[in-house]
Amino acid sequence: MPRLPDLPDLDWKPDGTPVARAFDDVYFSLSDGLEETRNVFLKACGLPERWKDRASFTIAELGFGSGLNFLGALECWCRSERAANGWLHFLSVEKYLMSASEAARVVGRWDALAEFRNALIARWPVRAKGLQRIEFPEFRATLTLYVGDAQDWLSSCEFMADAWFLDGFAPAKNDEMWGPDIYRLMESHSLPGALVGTYTVAGAVRRGLADAGYRVSKQAGFGRKRERLEAIWPDVSETRNVSDPFLSSPRCKKVSQIVIVGAGIAGACLALAFRRLGMSVTVLDAGDGPASGASGNPLGLIMPRLDAADTPQARFLLQSYLYALKFYEGAETSACTRLDVEQSPQSDTEIRRFAKLAADPPLDADWLGFSDGKLIHRHAMLVEPARLVADLMSLSGADLQYGCDVTDFASLKAGHDDETVFVFASAMAIKSQLEQMSLPLIAKMGQVDWVEHASSQTAGRASGSYALRHDRRLLCGATFEALADDELPFISEGARTENLRNLTELAPDWAGEVSGSSWQSRAAVRTTTPDRMPVAGVTFDHDVLCSEIAPLSKGQIVDGPISHDPSCFVLTGLGARGFTFAPCLADLIACHVTGRPLPLARPELEQVSPARFAIRAVKRGT
Ligand code: SAM
Repeated sequence: MPRLPDLPDLDWKPDGTPVARAFDDVYFSLSDGLEETRNVFLKACGLPERWKDRASFTIAELGFGSGLNFLGALECWCRSERAANGWLHFLSVEKYLMSASEAARVVGRWDALAEFRNALIARWPVRAKGLQRIEFPEFRATLTLYVGDAQDWLSSCEFMADAWFLDGFAPAKNDEMWGPDIYRLMESHSLPGALVGTYTVAGAVRRGLADAGYRVSKQAGFGRKRERLEAIWPDVSETRNVSDPFLSSPRCKKVSQIVIVGAGIAGACLALAFRRLGMSVTVLDAGDGPASGASGNPLGLIMPRLDAADTPQARFLLQSYLYALKFYEGAETSACTRLDVEQSPQSDTEIRRFAKLAADPPLDADWLGFSDGKLIHRHAMLVEPARLVADLMSLSGADLQYGCDVTDFASLKAGHDDETVFVFASAMAIKSQLEQMSLPLIAKMGQVDWVEHASSQTAGRASGSYALRHDRRLLCGATFEALADDELPFISEGARTENLRNLTELAPDWAGEVSGSSWQSRAAVRTTTPDRMPVAGVTFDHDVLCSEIAPLSKGQIVDGPISHDPSCFVLTGLGARGFTFAPCLADLIACHVTGRPLPLARPELEQVSPARFAIRAVKRGT
């Protein structure tokens, strides 16, 4: 199966309504698509009345299409009475993603949607498989779209829905969207009292919903349809006892305030994520200002690591990259600049990997080019890290407290009430602050070297190391050397020699321009892990976890809940990709804490779970 998602094969009715040739069906009612959204989906789901007092309301849709239902829901959300701290989560799935221009053509005819349509088209999802999150802070709404098959979405994503819009093509023409498994999976994602709306009254749909436990009723239809269906998931409050060794969806608790330890890029993204939800946030850091550690270099690069195969790890790397670009672009900061980056292979293995990527790319030509065996990352991003972290911190409006040395969780917890949630984003210090987790964090020292330079043109090249030019500065780096846990980072001539040698190989023309200049250096600790993937999730006691997951060593399943501490979370191990990983993972933690739909699917969550090291060790019998 190709890595790029399939495109829809569209035909157009004279009035501009799209038709999918493969399904021989229209995307929405020929009478009036927007009125259909309002009648068949919003009204059926009790909207807008049901979200009036809610801090968070989640709509899940099957079949995103042109985004018309999303826009109709967003318009209704913005124009109706709702809680001041309310946030709308709209989740959808789409196997055949339209282009932004096709979608603009479809939804362009409704003047009432203009404001919302412009925002959606400007942030239209990228043609890439898996979950993408698109924020609309101006409307207090988030769109989470899974590009792929409906059944894969429902079986791999973590969310609980208040309302369902079932909008696949006609059941007789598209049984993939309406099979019995779909209703059983919907049931596992339905909150008590969840309502369902759909335009079809097909017998198989009625029976499927009823067999899964929904109470189904027929209502007067819209347009040419005589009837439509409504359904309700009964208000049973049975607690589901699902065993979750990776602790991918920890139990939530009542939260009064958030305390974040660490004022680097992870801390800044966390502060913004929680403040945006209206929560009270304090950030504590031992340094005398933001970004005193690895986040404080003068220039940095956000560029994807693209793996040759479509694995959960590859998806996480790509999704966190796309997430980061949208996140920084949406933030009010001038510390980020888009640029195209040329990446040369650094080994024979990489030559083969690039060739595989060229044969089956995960991104289309708007994002990824190939030239002379090199990758061209279009619209990558150069950041000025120290300024960016400071900007994000001040945008968050969090209470920032510097010069606070947090020794361990117990001493920090002692000074706060039971409704405080703590997030440790303090890199290597977590090893001692949260000793009971036994996280296998590894310290690496990274040095960058830079010169002041006559040209202000922005440009970047990469190949293992990278070289960046921006704002009269040329920077190269970074080294990645072993460092003992308790050793302080130091600038070395050896690291500078390595950086300059790499610069000469990567950009001999640039190296020539700056020969003889006087170089400056900065060395900082980067925290990484044995599998080079970051760590984000809830905390636990390592020994207790190992005894609870012991059945895994015999190939058995773990039965029953896994102990964890819902008052304490961790975000670390960002390695050399802190600015890429932090926005998505901070959102993940904010969603964990507040019980909102998660920005990553389960297989990707398992890649970053703090419990993965213990699970692997227990399975190996070590
Ligand atoms: N709600 C859409 C709108 O507002 O424009 C219209 C949805 S249209 C009736 C049905 C959508 O389901 C199409 O966009 C189609 O590509 C998508 N689809 C069809 N089969 C699918 C599948 N197996 N998984 C996910 N999406 C699918």
